[in-house]
Amino acid sequence: MSKKILVWFRNDLRLHDNEMLVEAIAKSDSILPVYIIDSRIFGETKYGTQKTGSIRAQFMLESISDLRNSLKQIGGNLLVAEGKPEEILPVLVQEYEVNEVYHHREVAEEETQISTLVENGLWKLRINLKHFIGHTLYNKEDLPFPIKDIPDAFNLFKKKIERDAIIKPCFLAPDRINVAEVIDWGNIPTLTNLELIPQEKDIRSDFEFIGGETGGITTLQKVIVAMQQAASAKNLILASKLSAWLAMGCLSPRKVYWEIKKMEGMPNTKAIFNHILLGLLWRDYFRFMFKKYGNTFFKPEGFGNQGIVDEVNTTENFNSWKNGHTGFAIVDAVMNELNQTGYISNIARQTAALYLINNLEVSWVLGAAYFEEKLIDYNPASNWGNWANMAGVGNDQKTKSVFDLDKNIKSLDPKGNYALTWAS
Ligand SMILES: Cc1cc2nc3c(=O)[nH]c(=O)nc-3n(C[C@H](O)[C@H](O)[C@H](O)COP(=O)(O)OP(=O)(O)OC[C@H]3O[C@@H](n4cnc5c(N)ncnc54)[C@H](O)[C@@H]3O)c2cc1C
Repeated sequence: MSKKILVWFRNDLRLHDNEMLVEAIAKSDSILPVYIIDSRIFGETKYGTQKTGSIRAQFMLESISDLRNSLKQIGGNLLVAEGKPEEILPVLVQEYEVNEVYHHREVAEEETQISTLVENGLWKLRINLKHFIGHTLYNKEDLPFPIKDIPDAFNLFKKKIERDAIIKPCFLAPDRINVAEVIDWGNIPTLTNLELIPQEKDIRSDFEFIGGETGGITTLQKVIVAMQQAASAKNLILASKLSAWLAMGCLSPRKVYWEIKKMEGMPNTKAIFNHILLGLLWRDYFRFMFKKYGNTFFKPEGFGNQGIVDEVNTTENFNSWKNGHTGFAIVDAVMNELNQTGYISNIARQTAALYLINNLEVSWVLGAAYFEEKLIDYNPASNWGNWANMAGVGNDQKTKSVFDLDKNIKSLDPKGNYALTWAS
């Protein structure tokens, strides 16, 4: 009997460096690539914010469409369905006589809970759900310590991991696949189908986020070109703007690492290399911390105590912050840019967070929930982990003392141009 493996794509929308896909192809006669648009990601949070705003939703739809096109180019396709994976996958398994299901494991509770529900549903059919790990630069099994012993202090984590762990090479993208015979591969919905209102691109933004592996690789190539230019012109561009593609899995962190590593030894590129690598290490760190501590990151008290929260004025202060109406020009500019584009720099994120927490005395969880709605690069571990750190309730409590609003403002907007550009 021929073997069929269902490949359930989630935040891993790429062909390159995708162990799950490579193994599925190697161990089967045909595969069934599936993406399920889970309506739960469009719901409302308990803080009254939306789980997914239209900018990230658009990026997600583009990423699905790009993956479908890439699969078609190598002889395949992508089955797209809307609903709950735990209901749809068992049906597909029976309909297409699938022998095993592959997917990537996530770390935050809602996502892992869905895996558990799927696993239970498949278990009743005596079908195995195989878990892969492909979201981090360092694989969990290559760390020099078990998850429970990972140092809480980022600097120690970084030191040990760089000394004692290895970064694996990338898996090659397949150049041919054999897929199951499917009559209806399903349509990719539009934002309007999902009851979201499309947002016009803001002309003040000089950067285009087009979802999908193709857009991710193009942006990575631009980073490489910037590094080559830096080698001759000392023209340093520090923010790579790769985060949205990394979050949706259109780019693997290993791919980013090995591509920028090729520039090693070229003059003036070390600063960019170190900056991007540092970012990727923070990204790994928060993911591993989520694995270690789970839901503690979603609790207002986190690992400590936030301090003063002005409960009486919370709603008013939170609303003025969200809408860029605090009267504090730089914070308003940051929030306007976020609302219009879905992307703000790390320093801008820190500035908005510090102001909400310390000046407006609003609980950090509201800010984190709003970023969850708006950020094009949202991922649970990076967002809630960074917010908890900003509030001083993260697992590395020392981090709070390093944040300084005035210093941030000087570096974000030394000449006042930024506040002017994003004044409304
Ligand atoms: C309050 C707050 C919320 C944040 N929420 C998110 C989020 O939801 N998703 C997200 O990807 N990043 C988040 N960050 C981290 C960081 O701001 C963004 O990753 C970064 O600004 C993206 O821009 P870039 O791609 O140019 O990053 P670069 O500076 O070029 O860094 C390279 C990559 O490293 C990762 N990275 C860099 N800094 C961090 C960091 N501090 N924590 C985790 N990963 C990092 C990103 O994947 C990034 O693409 C948050 C930071 C703060 C302060």
